[in-house]
Amino acid sequence: MKMKRQVEEDNQDHSQLHLGPQPQNSYNFWVSAFLTARDIHLRNLILIGLPKDPQHPEMDVHSIQDFIKTFTQEDAIALVQTPAFLASAGLAAVAFYWLAFSGERKPVLNPNEWKEFPLVLKTQVSPNTAVYRFSLPSSKDVLGLPVGQHIQVSAEINGKDIMRSYTPTTLDQFDKGHFDLLIKTYEKGNISRHFSLLKIGDRIRVKGPKGAFIYNNKLTGHLGLIAGGTGISPMYQIIRSSIWDHSDATTINLIYANVNEEDILLRDELEHLHHNSAGRFNIFYVLNNPPPGWKGGVGFVTKEQVAHYMPSQDKDCKILMCGPPPMMSAMKKHLDELKYPAPRTVSKLSDQVFLF
Ligand SMILES: Cc1cc2nc3c(=O)[nH]c(=O)nc-3n(C[C@H](O)[C@H](O)[C@H](O)COP(=O)(O)OP(=O)(O)OC[C@H]3O[C@@H](n4cnc5c(N)ncnc54)[C@H](O)[C@@H]3O)c2cc1C
Repeated sequence: MKMKRQVEEDNQDHSQLHLGPQPQNSYNFWVSAFLTARDIHLRNLILIGLPKDPQHPEMDVHSIQDFIKTFTQEDAIALVQTPAFLASAGLAAVAFYWLAFSGERKPVLNPNEWKEFPLVLKTQVSPNTAVYRFSLPSSKDVLGLPVGQHIQVSAEINGKDIMRSYTPTTLDQFDKGHFDLLIKTYEKGNISRHFSLLKIGDRIRVKGPKGAFIYNNKLTGHLGLIAGGTGISPMYQIIRSSIWDHSDATTINLIYANVNEEDILLRDELEHLHHNSAGRFNIFYVLNNPPPGWKGGVGFVTKEQVAHYMPSQDKDCKILMCGPPPMMSAMKKHLDELKYPAPRTVSKLSDQVFLF
């Protein structure tokens, strides 16, 4: 009887003091009546942890078990249907999403503003080339560089501001909190030498993105890539993005030229991509000084090799080239003789032959 009276008092409390008169078909009213009829009082939640007998606080306190022991499956169903519960669940979902994804992929680069980044790691990868890793402000940041574009690096050398272009080998989709530059040191070079003298913690000034080439998986059916030395950087970015994108069906053939075998950059990474490409990506190496038993090309890249490994010009294809100027001049001549259109002085994305 006591329980019944309590239920009636509770109903009266709700309608008169807190909620005002409720229409009989009110959703809240029925949920509230349903819970109180089962002696479940959500306000009892605030009692958890308080003493049951205020005279003897050390004896026994209200526990969560006290609250839930009369809680049946039906009660739980009724509870999760209350607007307050649904609103809380919605807020929790928003909070989870914000915690899990906010801040991720925050692009750091700004094409109109120089930004500074500290060197955190230098890894020598060949006698004259190293990978320089720079950290971004937060471990969740990404550089903000579309696949195929590059950055500009500037430094003051002998009182003059000098600027050069570099293509990070890292990708926004995979690499957070840092970016890597693969740089060959020229003894008489300005910026490449400046890089080689950097110590951990030294900063470089960077602006971007720059460049006319942005890769996407619908750009073309066949990509032919010709690279020399560090000219592999933009190619590696594009290959990596394409091969790990399972909706990308582009076939990619790379001719990669170097002086000695130890100069072949990113070789393990390229072979790994080849093995995971299901035949979509193939490499042909060319060396000036091959070791005994070398199975790739020897000397400079020939017209016959270009004709054999590159997609023919009448296909839905693009040829991309990046390397030392003398090699690029020789490749333009080969392509011209093979009836490919000549690249412009400054290439455009729509061009069939694009020179980085
Ligand atoms: C879009 C783009 C992306 C690039 N990405 C990269 C990259 O990822 N990694 C990278 O290492 N480079 C890259 N480069 C090349 C880079 O921009 C510089 O040209 C290179 O680092 C040399 O600059 P430097 O200031 O050291 O030499 P400079 O001051 O320009 O040249 C001084 C001297 O260095 C020597 N030298 C310079 N360049 C060459 C060369 N190609 N061949 C032979 N000798 C040379 C010559 O003796 C020259 O007289 C890229 C270039 C472009 C346009």
